[in-house]
Amino acid sequence: MSRPAIAHIRLDAFRHNYRVAKQCHGGKALAVIKANAYGHGAVHCAKSIEGEADGFAVACLEEALQLREAGISEPILLLEGFFEANELPDIDAIDCLIVVHAKWQLEILLSAKLAQPLQVWLKMDSGMHRVGLSPSEYVQAFKRLNGHKNVAKLVLMSHFANADNLSSDHTLQQIEVFQNTIHELKQAINVETSLANSAAILGWQQAMRLSDTKTRWSRPGIMLYGANPIVQSSQVHVLKPVMQLTSKIISIRNIKKGDSIGYGSIFTAERDTTVGVVACGYADGYPRSAITGTPMAVDGKMTRLIGCVSMDMLFVDLTDIPAASIGSQVELWGNQVAANDVAKAAGTIAYELFCNVKRVHFQYFDASNI
Ligand SMILES: *Cc1c(COP(=O)(O)O)cnc(C)c1O
Repeated sequence: MSRPAIAHIRLDAFRHNYRVAKQCHGGKALAVIKANAYGHGAVHCAKSIEGEADGFAVACLEEALQLREAGISEPILLLEGFFEANELPDIDAIDCLIVVHAKWQLEILLSAKLAQPLQVWLKMDSGMHRVGLSPSEYVQAFKRLNGHKNVAKLVLMSHFANADNLSSDHTLQQIEVFQNTIHELKQAINVETSLANSAAILGWQQAMRLSDTKTRWSRPGIMLYGANPIVQSSQVHVLKPVMQLTSKIISIRNIKKGDSIGYGSIFTAERDTTVGVVACGYADGYPRSAITGTPMAVDGKMTRLIGCVSMDMLFVDLTDIPAASIGSQVELWGNQVAANDVAKAAGTIAYELFCNVKRVHFQYFDASNI
């Protein structure tokens, strides 16, 4: 038998979540599968909605090439566009859409010699202040790109900084900046727009009302993997977890009240304790920062992490699960244990947990009639 750490990936859940995203938003949806589909496997995820997805979004040309090589023919948007001018021939050859988020990209694109014009998603900095053109630069850039021989079509986009925070008015301010700026572009009234990430789809109907369903695009990412980025949200139940990370108990010992376990002896038993050792550690992507008390399930029963997570192993409290034995299944996150809850206990977000999963065996399931 091999090491029992497994990431079970439910592609039917991924497909379900894509449909939820489209339905909530009402327009077209680019499935964001950058970073190997947030650690889930980009080709598998893309294939599971092939023929149904309106398109995909990835971070860079290399990620797009992988999808094209696997036969994916839907539109693919490069969320950061190109990093160097010499990528343009390949981008053109595999027919990707590009984000233009900076003036240097604009200049390179306008002076490039392309085999065919590219579809450009022009990114505005409406308040996140990461990438994107400022509103005044944006209007200028739009005018230069619109009708240019290298530009097949223009889509107007921006990205939210705080859409996961329902009590912040920053998202409404960003919507207003975006709306006011594109209103200046008279020709742009019927131009396609793209604002909403997962948090906006789930929490900010205002982001959707800007344009009608035919011309608006969403860019759902994390919700496709079943994690709701809005912690206070009531809609969490409509999403299905895609990844279930499991392993097994490989050792059990009983320690006395006052005994400590593991590196740094950071956990000291407050009562006589049955300790299970699980074959999963931070080298598999389980966060080392997870604290004692982080939820975990053993043979379907909820319990907690104890002590310090090591590279290949971690400890689980089995005191109240007397039936647990060597080989008992442990869910680190997935169906019973919400990735969001583990992330919270580790001081991070589900995005990072998913992206970090490695070394474990990946097993794909698809109830394809769903
Ligand atoms: C990653 C990314 C998304 C997806 O965001 P989620 O929060 O995962 O939904 C959307 N748009 C852009 C520009 C991104 O970089």
